[in-house]
This record gives sequence, structure tokens and C-alpha cells, in this order.
Amino acid sequence: MAVTDRPAQRPRLPLIAGNWKMNLDHLQAVAFVQKLHWTLKDAKHEDGSVEVAVFPPYTDLRTVQTLLDADKIPFGLGAQDLSAQDSGAYTGEISGAFLSKLQCRYVIIGHSERRQYHAETDEVVAAKTQAALRHGLVPVICVGETAEDLEKFGASAVPVGQLDVALKDLKADAEIVVAYEPVWAIGSGQAATPEQAQDVCAKLRHVVAERLGQEAAERTRILYGGSVKSGNIASFMREPDVDGALVGGASLVVDEFAAIIRYQKHVGV
Ligand code: PEP
Repeated sequence: MAVTDRPAQRPRLPLIAGNWKMNLDHLQAVAFVQKLHWTLKDAKHEDGSVEVAVFPPYTDLRTVQTLLDADKIPFGLGAQDLSAQDSGAYTGEISGAFLSKLQCRYVIIGHSERRQYHAETDEVVAAKTQAALRHGLVPVICVGETAEDLEKFGASAVPVGQLDVALKDLKADAEIVVAYEPVWAIGSGQAATPEQAQDVCAKLRHVVAERLGQEAAERTRILYGGSVKSGNIASFMREPDVDGALVGGASLVVDEFAAIIRYQKHVGV
């Protein structure tokens, strides 16, 4: 069935994104992507029902791009970070221009591991968001509260503030994806409740409306991330303001990631 024929239409195409972090070299990446594609084909997965994107390490991107192209595999490709600069004497940095040339569609920005281990501030995240857009990439802007923030300020104050800064100089027609990732839920096995995810995602949508306008708020996809598994994805996807998931650990296990992608087949969805 085509996406447009589905009953109970969602307003936005769901996006299931796999952040591989610093895992899988380029040879392992080929085997993984092929196996994921075959697994979805065997299960007769409807390609148009959900968008799938993978975010391999930089050194895998060219290889994965060639494979997606050659085998006509309908997965989007994204990088895990980019430089705020476009070119020049910035040893070790990667320009958005290079990512565009590799046909990357997405780039993750402001992941909590970058904020934590590389001291990325909200201003750096804003500069990288603008760099992504300058090069025709869709920034996947990550926001989320730590356990300490949760206790002190509740769930939404910190992510709302982070997104507000990231969007401050964007044009209304900017295509972005937002990922709400509570830091305490990442890699911990302890996901947020669907109710919390919905509440924060709705507030993030409000920030998009205030900064970029109502039309942008209605079309922008907001993902939940943090210990998403095949066993809990459907409960998040039932929430009206959750448009998909940013998946870390479970995106490295073919059967598990395929089951997350196929959440629409889960009982009770
Ligand atoms: C992530 O790192 O973006 C993430 C959500 O990780 P995990 O799914 O392993 O919690």
C-alpha cells in the first residue's frame, strides 16, 4: 500500500534513523546495510511507509553511498557531525560541502556525546545548524536534559532552551529534523515514558512554531531517542508529536533495527 493510501494518515512521514556512533568499519558497514536491506525485503516491508536513514562514521560514508546507489537501496545517508566552517585550516574537521558531495541528506548536530565530550555549546550547535543548511543538508538537531536537569528543572526546560538557540537565525523554509534525546535515557536501557516524550516533543514543536512559523511546525519531524528498542518503539509512535526515532545501540543489530523500522506491523499499532 502506498503511504497516501494508509488509513489514519500521519501528518508527517516517519523517520527511523540509526546513529552508529564509532562502530562498524567500512567493510562491516557494507555487510550490515546489505543484510538490513535483505531482511526488510524478506519481510515484504513497504519502503514508502517509513523513511530509513543510517549515520555511519565518516570513513564509511563513501562506501555506503556507493552501495546504496548501486543496489538502489532506499535508505537515506547522514553524517554524525560536521564543521561549523566551510573550508580552510581546520585540521581534522569535515565540511558540509564534502558531505553534500557524498550525497548525504542528513547530519546529526549537537548529539549529547558531542556536547559532553567535545564541549559543544548551544552557540556551536547553532553555527553547525547553519553550516548544514548552507550546504543543502538537513540538520538533525539533538536536544535533551541530563538526569540532573530533569530533577532541577523538569523534562522540557533544557531541551526547549537548547532548540530555541539552535533555531534563532534560521529562515522559515529551513528543513530541519529535531531529536529529543533525554541524556539519561541514551544507552542506559531506561527509555523515557511515551507520555514524557509526547509532552516534550509537543513543546519543541511549539518552539519551531515560534521561531519558524506554524507551517514549519506542522511539517518538521520531531524524533524521540534514548534506549529505543523493538519492544517500545510502537508506544512512542502512537504519540501524535513523535514522528520517528533516533536509535543508537539497537541500530547496530540488523534484526532489531529491522523490527523497529517495521513498528507499524506490531500488534496494537
Ligand atoms: C543515541 O545515541 O542517539 C541513542 C539514542 O542511543 P541509544 O538508542 O543506544 O540509547
